Amino acid sequence: MKTKIAVAKGDGIGPEIMAAVLRIFDAANVQLEYEYVEMGKSYFDAGHSTGMTAAAKETIERLGLLFKGPMETPKGKGVKSINVTARKVWNTYANQRDFRSLNGVDTVFSKAGIPINLTIVRENIEDTYGGIEHLLTSDVAVGRRIITRPGSAQVIRYAFEMARRKGYTKLACGHKANIMKLTDGLFLETFQEIAKEYPDIESSDIIVDDLCMKLVSRPEMFQAIVLTNLQGDIVSDLCAGLVGGLGFAPSANIGDNISIFEAVHGTAPDIAGRGVANPTALLLSGILMLRYLGATTVAASIENALLYTLEQGIHTGDFGDRSTPSADTNTFADAIIANLGQLPQKGVVIAQPDFEVKANHDHPLKNKLTVSTNVQEEMVGVDVFVESNAQPTELAELAKRKSTDNFQLVMISNRGTQVWPTGSIFTELVNEYRMRFEKKDGTTITQKEILHIAAELSEDFKVCSVEFLMKFDGKIGYTLAQGQ
Ligand code: NAD
Repeated sequence: MKTKIAVAKGDGIGPEIMAAVLRIFDAANVQLEYEYVEMGKSYFDAGHSTGMTAAAKETIERLGLLFKGPMETPKGKGVKSINVTARKVWNTYANQRDFRSLNGVDTVFSKAGIPINLTIVRENIEDTYGGIEHLLTSDVAVGRRIITRPGSAQVIRYAFEMARRKGYTKLACGHKANIMKLTDGLFLETFQEIAKEYPDIESSDIIVDDLCMKLVSRPEMFQAIVLTNLQGDIVSDLCAGLVGGLGFAPSANIGDNISIFEAVHGTAPDIAGRGVANPTALLLSGILMLRYLGATTVAASIENALLYTLEQGIHTGDFGDRSTPSADTNTFADAIIANLGQLPQKGVVIAQPDFEVKANHDHPLKNKLTVSTNVQEEMVGVDVFVESNAQPTELAELAKRKSTDNFQLVMISNRGTQVWPTGSIFTELVNEYRMRFEKKDGTTITQKEILHIAAELSEDFKVCSVEFLMKFDGKIGYTLAQGQ
């Protein structure tokens, strides 16, 4: 029986490369049935605020699997990227991107005889991709970076399981916990906790800037790396560069109920409509999807035909030997079809399961909510962010008057650097300050008192935002200002 999947052709080069890939699938006799769904730029333009029709949403949620071409987000209309929204709304929490040297695709490393075979697992839901941003004054924009324990645990556990399935012996966690102690710190702490459950996988952590340097100098050091969303996005494009560019980078967005398979690249508007795009990244994504569905034999047959074709020196315009004519998208696909059944000469792809079939098509009746319990919380103060053109000492005089028996002003910072009670005259300022009030020893404070302080300050300033200062099991849940 054929498995039904949802297919969205996408925008720009999307329909061209999708048609080529599905033609290869049909020639290889994959047992899939396609339900085409309406998603992408034209649906934004037609007034669908999410970029897809209600029928498309219903089909994807029913089938649990979407094979997707790249999609364009209309600029300047205030709409969110459909690509990011789809990953977030359906909780495809792990973005797996496989990078492998391919014979026929010359890179600095292939020329030096250094093979690359590594996987990036990028967290796909949280981080700055929440897109929660505010302009607090006309000069100051802030964005929220959300990192959670359940969200980190989901993707990290996926990365360890994937490492085991692939037969990897090690997994690294990329992070910036030396600077972002609470957000990256939580991700790293979760990694170290979960690593204890996988003693067979050697776990390590590495600061993301060092990771980038090592990836371009000694990529063979790594097998798999798990990262937060934005850092994972950047590092995975770096890895695409190591193996020959975006035309060779597939990606799987894995969730417990719905998974999305797509190329890493976008709609390539500069070459759209010319029939010259490289379908390899989408084809490799389709091969990942076939493995996810357990169709490992046909996945291996298509991958072998692709590798054989690349070895023959057949290439689209974006790669390969410039002295030989490039094939257009259809001719490239025809060559792969003609090569079905062939095996590459340098290393054969073995029909090995990459994924366990883990799709769960139960339709939940309510949203899943995960909470860590048994944590002792204590409220110890507040950071009030205000707009002001005053100097720090003038500001402190006004703010100190708002101190109460329970509360005192302890610090003022500007762009995260302390400017009162001590600071440097050379610290340059913008018109948004943070005033930190802390409770005095031996007192307890309530939310109401905290909000009262903010209300009092609003008599003298525009209050831009308020953040409570909390302790969790006695550990402070906020950072100190630079210089504090
Ligand atoms: P892009 O990936 O579309 O293009 C970057 C460069 O790579 C271009 O020169 C392009 O011609 C080339 N390129 C990309 N894919 C190629 C292929 N298969 N064959 C040959 N050359 C290829 O990135 P961009 O220009 O920054 O983005 C264009 C649009 O795509 C934007 O609207 C963006 O939002 C969207 N986008 C969508 C996705 C997605 O659907 N997942 C991902 C990235 C960007």
